[in-house]
Amino acid sequence: MKTEPFFRQNESTLMIKEWESFDASLKAGFSTRVGGTSVNGYNSLNVGLHVNDIDSNVIKNREKIAEILRIPLNQWVFSDQVHKAQIHHVTKSDKGKGAFNYENAIKATDGLYTREKGIMLALCYADCVPVYFYAPSHQLIGIVHAGWKGTVENIVGQMISTWTKNEGVSTNDIYIAIGPSIEECCYIVDDRVIEALTTLLGDQARHTFKEVSTGQYRLNLKLANQIICEKNGIDSNHILVSKDCTSCNEELFFSHRRDKGSTGRMMSFIGFEEDES
Ligand SMILES: [Zn+2]
Repeated sequence: MKTEPFFRQNESTLMIKEWESFDASLKAGFSTRVGGTSVNGYNSLNVGLHVNDIDSNVIKNREKIAEILRIPLNQWVFSDQVHKAQIHHVTKSDKGKGAFNYENAIKATDGLYTREKGIMLALCYADCVPVYFYAPSHQLIGIVHAGWKGTVENIVGQMISTWTKNEGVSTNDIYIAIGPSIEECCYIVDDRVIEALTTLLGDQARHTFKEVSTGQYRLNLKLANQIICEKNGIDSNHILVSKDCTSCNEELFFSHRRDKGSTGRMMSFIGFEEDES
């Protein structure tokens, strides 16, 4: 059995270890809920500014992760996530957007990518699937937020086609990591979701769900996104998939479903440390 690709670096961060072998300056991973200053349902490392936690605590929590990763928070970029398939090409002028307040985050966007060094891309999650993109030969990095809506709107396919069409990247050069999210053990959906998924994936959709009672299905949303990657030409050997379920592991993760909507957020992050020169 393959080892978990998201390696626990310390109490607060899980890192995609394997990708560091391409470039030691790459920092890519996922935050946990451990080691922060937030209280009540947000205990303790909540990094979501839009969930009614105290803003100053959220900033402190983000600063802590920024310090661990050695990329200052004013070089991070967050977006206002809306469960759609909009993707934004992040440039130097975006530095700091959404990092300290929600109002100036990149608007209505669930996917970010860049080729700039010294910028950390970040998105927030509490069950949805974080998907990471990396083309080592082009120094191109990206992340998307794929809940069931983003998944069926094909945000992962959008990122891949943006890279191949606009950035001149061959699909052979793209590596993918699928991070901790709610798993089929804890994720029941209805016909609406299954129909939308079947429209996108056709016959292959049936591998991703199991009907547990009339109109109720256990869904493996990580697998759905993995299949989307493969359908878009990504080599299956280039895809890493986390085994962590955010709902099962209450110690490590917030979960929107488990905590009935009132909970904190973890974040996915990816960025290159700035060159020393
Ligand atoms: Zn579970």
